[in-house]
Amino acid sequence: MANKDYNGILVFAEQKNGVIHKVSYELLNKGREMAKENDLPVYSVVLGSKNIDVNELIYRGADKVYYIEDYIFNQPKEILYKENLVKLINDIKPEIFLIGATSFGRSLAPRLAASLKTGLTADCTELKIDDDGKLIQIRPAFSDNILAHIKTDTYPQMATIRYKEFSEAERNTNLSGEIIKLDSIKIEDDLVKVIKEIGSKEIDISEAEVVVSGGRGLKSPDDFKMLEELAKLLGGMVGASRAVVDEGYISKEYQVGYSGNRVKPKLYIACGISGAPQHIAGMSESDTIVAINSDPSAQIFNIADIGIVGDLYDVVPRIIDKVKSKSLA
Ligand code: FAD
Repeated sequence: MANKDYNGILVFAEQKNGVIHKVSYELLNKGREMAKENDLPVYSVVLGSKNIDVNELIYRGADKVYYIEDYIFNQPKEILYKENLVKLINDIKPEIFLIGATSFGRSLAPRLAASLKTGLTADCTELKIDDDGKLIQIRPAFSDNILAHIKTDTYPQMATIRYKEFSEAERNTNLSGEIIKLDSIKIEDDLVKVIKEIGSKEIDISEAEVVVSGGRGLKSPDDFKMLEELAKLLGGMVGASRAVVDEGYISKEYQVGYSGNRVKPKLYIACGISGAPQHIAGMSESDTIVAINSDPSAQIFNIADIGIVGDLYDVVPRIIDKVKSKSLA
């Protein structure tokens, strides 16, 4: 233990509509591994209404689960979550606090770190505890050219970790632990107004098994319809490079890469994407990569399993026709 006033590893269990996000089980797995090596307790905290199966967090390795049960957490209100979590952290003083780098986690973590006057390392890809008991927070830096090893002097040592970086903790129903229910803190103005809820299935490309992505090779936003047709035929979703997101062709939720989503589908089809390191950072672990690009020297071909040198406006419709004829056969 690096600081005797703090103890244990706390994992934030993010939930939506009562369903715990899988990144929480990944963090419990990593937390458990570090805890075992360093003889630390593992805690988890979940905020949400009463239909959450919090026992699952025990089965995935938490020794103790703090459950702040209230329907007010049904909406992703960062300020409200922050107030409740700051109180818990000040009470239990974990030496390490881990949060998934989901959209909500990325929005919540800096607010928490600022309130707790502690450091935060965002988007980590690996974690270790050194011989002095300090958390080494590892993340790519300088466009993925180096892996920075970061330590923080302040406590708790906080990090957000990318989804799908670690495997999920295996479910073991023989594990036992304690569930501690806590009252919520309500605040007068949480500064958030939910205007419209977008169905997560529509936009969660990090879960898709097939991703058909478009880049600056597309001439207009409408041309995404062609990629969407192919994606649908293959049971997948569309993705995009940042270039076209910045152009306003498609919304940020579809962006693949360093500052977007990390995807690991069975099949990734890159259409008119050059293969900049920042894009590759988000898709290089796909099982099979198909690249369609008119420039034979495009970098994307260096990582593609199948490279098609050609005009996407010629190649994509031909693939669509082939898939259609196969599905009709
Ligand atoms: P371009 O590089 O312009 O490539 C377009 C490609 O289309 C070319 O290779 C061209 O040959 C091909 N092409 C053109 N017409 C056709 C056609 N008709 N048929 C077939 N091929 C055609 N980028 C991301 O994607 N995701 C990120 O998360 C991301 N994060 C970043 C973070 C930082 C800090 C920075 C600095 C940059 C980031 N970028 C990111 C931007 C990245 O560096 C590139 O600028 C971007 O990926 C380029 O997008 P692109 O491949 O669509 O465009």
